[in-house]
Amino acid sequence: MTYASKLLINGELVDGDRSLDVVDPATNGVLATVACASEGQAEAAIQAAKAAQPAWEALGWGKRKELLLAFADAYAARLPEFAEAMTREQGKPLHEAQGEASYTEFFIRHFAGMTLPVETIQDDEKGSIRVHRKALGVVVGISPWNFPLLVPAAKMAPAILAGNTIVLKPAPTTPICTLMLGEIAKDIFPAGVVNVITDQNDLGSFFTSHPDIAKVTFTGSTATGRKIMSSSAATLKRLTLELGGNDAAIILKDVDVAETAEKVYNAAFYNAGQACLAIKRVYVEEQIYDDLCDAVAARARQAVIGNGMDEGTQVGPIQNKMQFEKAQHFLEVAQRDGKVIAGGTIGNGPGNFVHPTVVRDIEDGSELVDQEQFSPILPIVRIKDGEEALTRANRSPYGLGGSVWSKDLDRARDLASRMQSGTVWINQHLNFGPHIPFAGAKQSGIGVEWTEHGLAEFTQLSVVNEVY
Ligand code: NAD
Repeated sequence: MTYASKLLINGELVDGDRSLDVVDPATNGVLATVACASEGQAEAAIQAAKAAQPAWEALGWGKRKELLLAFADAYAARLPEFAEAMTREQGKPLHEAQGEASYTEFFIRHFAGMTLPVETIQDDEKGSIRVHRKALGVVVGISPWNFPLLVPAAKMAPAILAGNTIVLKPAPTTPICTLMLGEIAKDIFPAGVVNVITDQNDLGSFFTSHPDIAKVTFTGSTATGRKIMSSSAATLKRLTLELGGNDAAIILKDVDVAETAEKVYNAAFYNAGQACLAIKRVYVEEQIYDDLCDAVAARARQAVIGNGMDEGTQVGPIQNKMQFEKAQHFLEVAQRDGKVIAGGTIGNGPGNFVHPTVVRDIEDGSELVDQEQFSPILPIVRIKDGEEALTRANRSPYGLGGSVWSKDLDRARDLASRMQSGTVWINQHLNFGPHIPFAGAKQSGIGVEWTEHGLAEFTQLSVVNEVY
C-alpha cells in the first residue's frame, strides 16, 4: 500500500521542508518516508488556521455538524486502509487496529451529535442572563504513538465542532494515520480548518508557546505535560492534558480466579501494555495470591507474539526503539526485584518484541511497581487486604484509572469510592468511550476529554447580562 506522506496546510497537501522515516516496529525496516515540517511550515499552518477560524465559527453548529458527518462518511470508506497503516506504523495486531479504526468512527459520529446550547439563567420582566459558548480560536492537538488514530481524531472532532480550527501534530514515530486524516479533511472542510504538521519531536514547544494558539489539547507523558504547562504560561493558554498513569487493580479473595485472571491479562497486555489505561500493577489478597499469579502467568505464556499483520498474532512489538530500551530495563528490574514467572525475555529477530512477562514477589518501591512501565511486563504484589491495597494504590502521584475486583459489590464500591483516580472500574478495566468523561486525577492530567464536558473545554463561556 502507498502511505499518506504529505502535510496539510491551508487546504493543500504539501511536501515537507524536511523528511521523516517511519519505521515498522515489527521489522525495524523503513516503512515509508513522509513529509516533515519546518518551523516555517508550522507557522504557515497556524496562520492558515487563524485566518479560517472566524468564518468557520460563523457557519454555526448545524453546518459544522453536517461537515463533520461528511468527514465521518469519507473516513468510514477507508477503514481497512487505516487499520493496515496503523498496524504497520504502530505494531498492534490487525484486529486491535481494526477495533481502534471502528471506534474512531464511533467517536467522530458521537461528537457530531453534540451541541452546547445557550443556557438561560434569567429571562423575565427585569432582564435576561444568558450563557453562550464561543470557540477559543486556534487549537493545537498533540498526540502520542500508542493510539495514533483515535487520539488525534478525538481531538479534532470536538475542537472543530465547537468552531475552532486546529493543527494536528502526531508523534514522529507514528505520523501516517494523522496524515491520512489530513487527506480526508482536505476534501471536506474549508481550507485552514484542519491542518496536519509532522515533526522530529522538535516543534512541540513552538506550538505551545505560540501567541496565536489559544488552546493545547495534549495526550502524552506527564514529563511532556509539565513542559507544556511551562511553555504555555506566558500566553495563559487553555490546556487539556491527558497524561501518564500507573493503574492499580485491587483483587479481593472472593473473585473467580480463572475468570479474573483472563480479564486482568487482557487489560494489562492490550496493545503490548502500551495503553495509558492499562493495568500496570496488581494487588492481590494473600489467600488467592499464588493461584492468581499462576493463572495470569499461564495465560501470558500462551500469548502469540509477532508481526501484527500475521494472522493469530496477539501481542505485537513495542512501538519504538526508545520504548523498547525502557522495556529491557524493566526486564532487568523484574529479575532483580521480583520473581519472573512468565516471559522475561525479548524476542528473536529484528523487531522490538518482548514476551509478555509476569512478575511476582515484588514490592512497592521497585521501579516496576512505582513507575509507568508502558510495556508488557506486569508486577503482581501480595497484600493482606483491600485496605492495604488502597493505601498503596493511592500513594502514586498518578491517578488515571484503577479497578476493584470482588463479588462483594458493597465492599468493592466502598474501596472504589476512595480510589484517587479519574476513572474507577469494578470487575472490569479499560472500558472507555466518547459517552464517558475521561479525566486524570493528580499528575495524570488536567481537564476532561469526551462527552459534553470535554466539548465544553474547547469553548469560552460568554455571559450576556441584560437589564430592561
Ligand atoms: P511524549 O510525551 O513523549 O510525546 C507525546 C507528544 O508530545 C508527541 O507528539 C511528541 O512529539 C510531543 N512532544 C514532545 N516534546 C514536546 C514538547 N516539549 N512540547 C510539546 N509537545 C512535545 O509521549 P509518548 O512517549 O509519545 O506517549 C507515551 C505517554 O503518553 C505515556 O506516558 C502514556 O501514559 C501517555 N498517554 C496518555 C494517555 C491519556 O489519555 N492519559 C493516552 C495515551 C498515552
